[in-house]
Amino acid sequence: MTSILQTLSCADNYDPNSLPVDRARQLILDLLRPVVGHERIFVRQALDRVLAEDVISPIDVPTHDNSAMDGWAVRFDDLAAGEKSAGETRLKNIGTAFAGRAFEGKLGAGETVRIMTGAVLPQDADCVVIQEVVRVENDVVIIPPGQRRDQNTRRAGEDLQAGKPAIAAGKKLRPAEIGIIASLGIAELSVRRRVRVALFSTGDELCSIGTPLAPGAVYDSNRYTIWGMLTRLGCEVIDMGVVKDDPAVLEAAFREAASCSDAIITSGGVSVGEADFIKQLMAQLGEVAFWKIAMKPGRPMAFGRIQPDGEDKPGAWLFGLPGNPVAVMVTFYQFVLPAILKLAGVDPVKLVPAFPARCTEAMKKGCGRTEFQRGILFQENGEWCVRPTGAQGSGVLRSMSDADCFIVLEHEREKVGAGDTVMVQLMNGLV
Ligand code: AMP
Ligand code: MG
Repeated sequence: MTSILQTLSCADNYDPNSLPVDRARQLILDLLRPVVGHERIFVRQALDRVLAEDVISPIDVPTHDNSAMDGWAVRFDDLAAGEKSAGETRLKNIGTAFAGRAFEGKLGAGETVRIMTGAVLPQDADCVVIQEVVRVENDVVIIPPGQRRDQNTRRAGEDLQAGKPAIAAGKKLRPAEIGIIASLGIAELSVRRRVRVALFSTGDELCSIGTPLAPGAVYDSNRYTIWGMLTRLGCEVIDMGVVKDDPAVLEAAFREAASCSDAIITSGGVSVGEADFIKQLMAQLGEVAFWKIAMKPGRPMAFGRIQPDGEDKPGAWLFGLPGNPVAVMVTFYQFVLPAILKLAGVDPVKLVPAFPARCTEAMKKGCGRTEFQRGILFQENGEWCVRPTGAQGSGVLRSMSDADCFIVLEHEREKVGAGDTVMVQLMNGLV
């Protein structure tokens, strides 16, 4: 697949040695296509899955004109000269309409029916007067002036109409959509298959949990954070463990990963010191661009396609993330997350919004790169403020754990003074 690098190098402003975050994200999103394959599942299994086909409403919702309040159903034209009159109207109480038990009959001139929320409007009633403003004297119901036609009523089909799409394909199903689907009486639906992601960590220094730590070794934590983020995104995760920095072992791992996944995520091995033999290996197995993204943390990253058995075999997308634990999470949030949504068929892929907050501390900022500091949000005098978590080193995973947002210092920005406005991105909305 020579097309990827060709496409990338033809793209204007493409500088793999200093690629702005937005540009890199867009290049990735432009190349990816949703995975193919549907499955039919029950509504309750569909939470967080991606709808594969439009849900067409088989019924009107609501199915009948009904009352939005507890009160009295009236014929608006019976009311004393409508809203212009200062006078009250005296109507005769002829029955009650309950939710699920309609008033069987028609409202004649000068008549009213007691009606509960959700009850079907009696024939010819076109207005509901809330019970709190009404006086009842025996069988006489006294309605004050100032009512409006259609008030406190819900019309059939007001929410969803029979035959029309209720939810469009590509929607990631949240509790609201699960409820809508149930409100249509639908028990089964088609969702896209889950995205399959193969995952391994690289590094001779890595030690698996549950084994004693050798001198100079570190426990492999990246595989666990990445697993957590992928699981939250609803991926099928194929965990391939730790792979040593040995070309033959790495080659076997890439081959296996590409044969069983839509995307491969690795961590480590893409920094300048290590990249050379991985670069050669990846060039052999597919087509991979090594990017230096204009960001901190997370500067080195590899992106491309691993297709060891040639272009006519599907292969898998590769995201070679940096090794430092914070850099892993930042690059995942900024690039892998939207990419997974695109592969999953989520349409449109919406980025996590950023909003302004006042920064309590001054911060240094390098020019010509986007920085993602970790911050804690709080409110002061009705204003949102953010304070950076302590040490911001790209290996300090604690800075992610303490944080509830990223402080995003834009590419062009120079420095931040205490009290300056900065943009923050909630981590909650990410994964
Ligand atoms: P690398 O990008 O491979 O040079 O790694 C950069 C730093 O991240 C080194 O300090 C590594 O020890 C550390 N690192 C790499 N992979 C992992 C991992 N899976 N878990 C924890 N730390 C890692
Ligand atoms: Mg390494």
